[in-house]
Amino acid sequence: MSSFDVKTGNARRTPVLFTRVTEVIMGRFIYLDNAATTKVYPEVAKAVLPYFTELYGNPSSIYSFAGKAKDAVEEAREAIAGIIGAKPNEIYFTGGGSESDNWAIKSTVEAYGSKGAHVITTKIEHHAVLHTCEWLENNGCEVTYLDVDENGLVNPADVEAAIKDNTVLISVMMANNEIGTIEPIAEIGEIARRHGVLFHTDAVQAYCHVPIDVNKMNIDMLSASGHKVGAPKGVGFLYMKRGIRNKSFLHGGAQERGKRAGTTNVPGIVGLAMASRITSDYMKEHAADMASLRDYLIKRVTEEIPYSICNGDRVKRLPNNANFCFRFIEGESLLLLLDNKGICGSSGSACTSASLDPSHVLLAIGLPHEIAHGSLRLTLSSEITKEDIDYTVDCLKEIVARLRSMSPLYDDFIKNEK
Ligand SMILES: *Cc1c(COP(=O)(O)O)cnc(C)c1O
Repeated sequence: MSSFDVKTGNARRTPVLFTRVTEVIMGRFIYLDNAATTKVYPEVAKAVLPYFTELYGNPSSIYSFAGKAKDAVEEAREAIAGIIGAKPNEIYFTGGGSESDNWAIKSTVEAYGSKGAHVITTKIEHHAVLHTCEWLENNGCEVTYLDVDENGLVNPADVEAAIKDNTVLISVMMANNEIGTIEPIAEIGEIARRHGVLFHTDAVQAYCHVPIDVNKMNIDMLSASGHKVGAPKGVGFLYMKRGIRNKSFLHGGAQERGKRAGTTNVPGIVGLAMASRITSDYMKEHAADMASLRDYLIKRVTEEIPYSICNGDRVKRLPNNANFCFRFIEGESLLLLLDNKGICGSSGSACTSASLDPSHVLLAIGLPHEIAHGSLRLTLSSEITKEDIDYTVDCLKEIVARLRSMSPLYDDFIKNEK
């Protein structure tokens, strides 16, 4: 293939399309949206490939060829159980975090309650929990949505005070996906245990990023997802403590010990286990480094950009999460201009970025609508360097100043300040 070179008039060998692609690749590309999804580790992609093309047997089949796939799934189950201090037979593979949340909540109510059952959750949960709870309410259940403080922390005393005779489940997330706040899960677990109420935690953001021990933390059910830890999308698991009467959620075949029907996602599960191990090993060693890069980002932004704040708890926080609000700024414009600079960020969560409503999490921590609208979440990975952060902050300063220079509200505000 050749194309015409405008400058020399000669035909050239490089196809135009190829040139464009390399231009994009050669330009800056800084991915700071790891809370939305992550890149699959190249070594994980390589390791799962044979489970598509060679060891493609259905683990439920009898012949020895399928046994290889079955063994790989059981090894994965053991590896994952080890990461959270569970037993392998307490891990049930699912199609991701949303399915695990739906399963834990709906099936617990089905098994332990009936119409009139009471569930306690919080106002800052992921929509996979919140919308499931709304569904329960439409089906005759009662749900308490607990408030959080200005940093997004749930008060364990509020959880205890909300428990009633008909309470069957407490569901509180381990770490918030927008503002990164890490909740007092062990304390809440202890309260649940003492009152004989089951405790579920959505640990999708926390899994492999912070240490988890389901027994020490008194967790009965825990949801996790592959694509937040460097594994493919569409695979996750639900930890269910032995002895819990949780009904199956997907009906059909007898996979996952009769609890979750559907042909086993062998490549996904193998990838989930391998990526989990890589991420948790990395975080064991480098969580402090990542947290100091995060703090450097937060410090530069809040010190160098006027009228900016950092949302979420500054200490009880995921090592990779920074979340800001900029007054007089519209989050969507900020994201588009950052995109022009090759920077991927998010305003709130990926699930809400299609709507214009401000984030329910930012409203729950007490921010007024107009400030919550100017939010930006930047979430790091092991690939992000200090240089990337410096470039990002420099771009951000320029973009915020430019957007404010076009804002009549900001103009009025500055005039009144003087
Ligand atoms: C991403 C996420 C989910 C949903 O997980 P999927 O695997 O995408 O379904 C649930 N909860 C939290 C906290 C998340 O961050």
